[in-house]
Amino acid sequence: MIDNNTHIVFDLDDTLFKEIDFVKSAYVYINSYINSRFNIDLSKNIKKCLSGEVNFFDLINSKLHPDQNFPIEKYLELYRFHYPEIKLSKDTSVFFEKILSHNIDFSIITDGRSISQRNKIKALGLYDQVKNIIISEETGFEKPHFNNFKILNRIYSNKKLIYIADNTSKDFLAPNSLNWDTICLINNGQNIHPQDFNLSIDYLPKIKVNYLTEINI
Ligand SMILES: [Mg+2]
Repeated sequence: MIDNNTHIVFDLDDTLFKEIDFVKSAYVYINSYINSRFNIDLSKNIKKCLSGEVNFFDLINSKLHPDQNFPIEKYLELYRFHYPEIKLSKDTSVFFEKILSHNIDFSIITDGRSISQRNKIKALGLYDQVKNIIISEETGFEKPHFNNFKILNRIYSNKKLIYIADNTSKDFLAPNSLNWDTICLINNGQNIHPQDFNLSIDYLPKIKVNYLTEINI
């Protein structure tokens, strides 16, 4: 289904890496910040925070003295703008090696903040290879709006376009309406957003895979 006339477009979070790994990376980073500033080490609590049992920001504040100040604005700044420790899974790396060895180009369409999303793409080692990075904060359009997909429709008007993503509530509606092929990476249980394959057909991917390496090239 993918050949030299195909331009592949990926979603980012929970498609090219697990978003929970970004959250973990942010907690580790914030912990090192509060450790150096307030001499508090909460690293043993990170697991509980990742499972949703404990709110990390509230936990930090519960450990501070009344004269110490760690506002939500600072927490969010550290969370959003740190350079994350995330990487491609083995099968995703294999898939990229394969498409690049076949000279098949790719782009990314993602919702989120410009700096956060660009840092993630850099940390995954894809920044030099990706042809176009389209981020909702930069264009002003979020999925399921089709504006960001139309940008690539114009650039690759003579190519077959394919969108690989994970979120059934917003990812596939626009590319389906523009006659792209759509592929959903099935949630392995770690995703932040649940998937619902009982939605109306406009929202559903044409193909579902458990690993990107199941896609034939
Ligand atoms: Mg996603």
